[in-house]
Amino acid sequence: MNSIMEDMLCYWSILTLIQWRKEMEKIELFSEKADCCACGACMNICPKHAISMVEDEYGFKYPSINEELCIRCGVCKSVCGYQNKKETNEPLHTYVACTQTTNIVESASGGVFAALAKAFLEKGGIVYGVALEQIDGELVPLHIGIERKEDLHKLLGSKYVQSNVGTVYAKIKMQLHEGRRVMFSGSPCQVAGLKAYLGNKEYDNLILIDIICHGVPSIQFFNSYLHELEKKLKGRVVDFKFRDKSKGWGLVSRVDYINASNKPKSRSINARESSYYHLFLAGDIYRENCYSCKYASKNRPGDITLGDYWGIEKEHPEYLTANGGVFDERKGVSCMILSTEKAKAFVEEVRDSVQLQESTFEKAARKNGQLVHPTPCSERREKVLEMYADLGYKAIDKWFIKKLGIKMIPIYIIDRIPVSLKKGIRRILK
Ligand code: SF4
Ligand code: SF4
Ligand code: SF4
Repeated sequence: MNSIMEDMLCYWSILTLIQWRKEMEKIELFSEKADCCACGACMNICPKHAISMVEDEYGFKYPSINEELCIRCGVCKSVCGYQNKKETNEPLHTYVACTQTTNIVESASGGVFAALAKAFLEKGGIVYGVALEQIDGELVPLHIGIERKEDLHKLLGSKYVQSNVGTVYAKIKMQLHEGRRVMFSGSPCQVAGLKAYLGNKEYDNLILIDIICHGVPSIQFFNSYLHELEKKLKGRVVDFKFRDKSKGWGLVSRVDYINASNKPKSRSINARESSYYHLFLAGDIYRENCYSCKYASKNRPGDITLGDYWGIEKEHPEYLTANGGVFDERKGVSCMILSTEKAKAFVEEVRDSVQLQESTFEKAARKNGQLVHPTPCSERREKVLEMYADLGYKAIDKWFIKKLGIKMIPIYIIDRIPVSLKKGIRRILK
């Protein structure tokens, strides 16, 4: 072999070795889909902005590393709270609660988040939560921060779809270091994601609120549903309320749209008539890890946990207005769990904002299963998601209507009876 050949061989071997080392050192953020909740902590912390959230065939987002930018520092791997950290807080107090200072009808459950957030804003704080924003013809659930009470309406109401946290963790860290008071509300995995991003350091000026979460469908799936709805309505959807209380506390959504004559219109849609809502409630369309969610337990990542107080009529009938109490079942009642001393001090500080009555975690959890275990994975999930990936949302809608068939008629009639009247009839029939 001449010397040129020898040099080339040597050069090639070195290149192969470098490539092999690079491959060996590649960072794997998760091995199974069930190990990633898309909290975005890894994306927020990456010093090289090498991580982006990429959709799979069903629209669920997963972090993906740009190998060209990655310097293999491993920070993204160690920040992952979903894979590395166990929550240990225990419930200190559980309350039946509702707002005293805001319009309960505009909020989810008993409107406690609105009341706490309003008081926080009045004291100069910044409140983060999920807003549905119009972006390129889509309604995108985004985490945003607000500083004015006039903007609070954007964060109110349940959003039964995964929100995009974007780069808010980094922004929140900056604001905390500037000495601003911050309230962050989100799903438990997002709250845990923020805590992990902050290095699990305690900040006196941060209040974390997690919601009782069943699981989340993807943004893409939600928007595919809205596009099908637009075809039926012959209009353009401009807003969507997952829980509209104009007819009482129940599972009725409302869509606002602009019709073909350019006029603003609204329509109520009952959960049982809506393919999306139906699949959501049946647990057919959540992201994979939601079915083994580690936060569906009494060990909550937030200082405060909020949700509906389902089963209030059985657990605490004495608190209801019908029995001389202060909570109106027709308007919504919240469950509020305090898990830290910081939460206790904060609620004491804004005590006039909320109506509170003592309960217990066990009572609140009786009809709120996700306080003790994750939603079980339905047998239909795979079929439904495959149908969506292969044939689009139209096929899902068709399948849903066919499945209901003649059952649709009584549902259609029953769903048009006001919730308050239904509850009255139920009471008489007891
Ligand atoms: S930090 Fe969050 S987004 Fe990143 S891998 Fe872990 S769970 Fe997934
Ligand atoms: S290893 Fe470092 S540079 Fe690479 S993606 Fe993770 S955080 Fe970013
Ligand atoms: S069920 Fe768990 S993993 Fe899924 S969105 Fe809710 S908190 Fe996150």
